[in-house]
Amino acid sequence: MKHDIIRSVTCIPMRLPFHHWTDPPLFAGRPRTTLDSALVRLETQDGVVAWGESYCVEPRALLAIFETLIAPLAKDKPASDPMLLPSMQRTLHNLGRSGPVVHALAGLDIALWDWRAKRAGVPLHELLGGKRRDRVRAYASLLQYYDDAELLDAVSTRALQEGYAEIKLHERSAEALSAVRRAAGPRTPIMVDTNCAWLPDEAPGAIEAMREHDPFWIEEPLWPPEDGRALARLQASCGVPLAVGENASSAHALKEMIDEESVRYVQPSVIKLGLSAARDIARHCQGTAVVCAPQVAFFGPGYLASLHLIAAQEREVSLERLYVRLAHTPYQQTVPIQDGWAQVPDAPGLGADPEPELVAGRFGSFSS
Ligand SMILES: [Mg+2]
Repeated sequence: MKHDIIRSVTCIPMRLPFHHWTDPPLFAGRPRTTLDSALVRLETQDGVVAWGESYCVEPRALLAIFETLIAPLAKDKPASDPMLLPSMQRTLHNLGRSGPVVHALAGLDIALWDWRAKRAGVPLHELLGGKRRDRVRAYASLLQYYDDAELLDAVSTRALQEGYAEIKLHERSAEALSAVRRAAGPRTPIMVDTNCAWLPDEAPGAIEAMREHDPFWIEEPLWPPEDGRALARLQASCGVPLAVGENASSAHALKEMIDEESVRYVQPSVIKLGLSAARDIARHCQGTAVVCAPQVAFFGPGYLASLHLIAAQEREVSLERLYVRLAHTPYQQTVPIQDGWAQVPDAPGLGADPEPELVAGRFGSFSS
């Protein structure tokens, strides 16, 4: 059984130049001109190459983590061993239960799923229980426009004209939501992600102001995001579905919220927590009032993994798609979004590999 022995695990930081029809938004205190994550490449002795994706804000850190921690533990081990990743998680737990080491393991986890499905010759969704739908609706997730009603109107109108039927905003005010509600009409679901805008005593008033514009859900309403009790109190009183999860550092925290039904949507990020954890969270939601709606602010193998996860889960939810122009759009030829829908791939594994130029570190540019 030598063929399944891991020959190499490497990471390839991916910085995708984008524009969103105005000046770059701020991210982590800096203007943001690229959308960043990292490809994870796994190869076994038999030549099978599989792909994962890790959250990555600092490429030098992630490269070092793969080189010094991940690769030495994974190399020469059998990729088919179901205990490989759990044992690595335990071996590395002293280095932190969230952050870049965990994100690196998440990328390896996705690559191992791709590898298993490729080796079995089946699409990933089959290993997740089988697809319950052939296509998944995508929603246009706008970046931040800082309450600029004119821009919000223009960009959401553009998304609707391209066939998207649902929109998410990264805004914090009722005025911003009102502008998009006017542009999109009364029946378009509009989600609002505040990225942890409010302290617990500020949130009720801010949400009340938004209610007349009918938000579909309000995402990450509270600072700090891990205050589960405050979230549960807010959900019980605010009258709008709440969604959280992208800041969760473990599946455990989200499972507790599901058990207590303290929010309506949980949003695991597969490039932070891994696909195994996200699948467990989706299963944990079954029979509860909580719906798993993965956070998908990325475009690589983690995006495809999320598409398979959504296709296989019981409750139908839409797939987050950041609404930007990319200089190079991963999988544009293989798994395109058309009229606001993504077909669920049926080729073995994730269904498509990243394009050779991405693997070579060429991400395109907008320079003319
Ligand atoms: Mg979000």
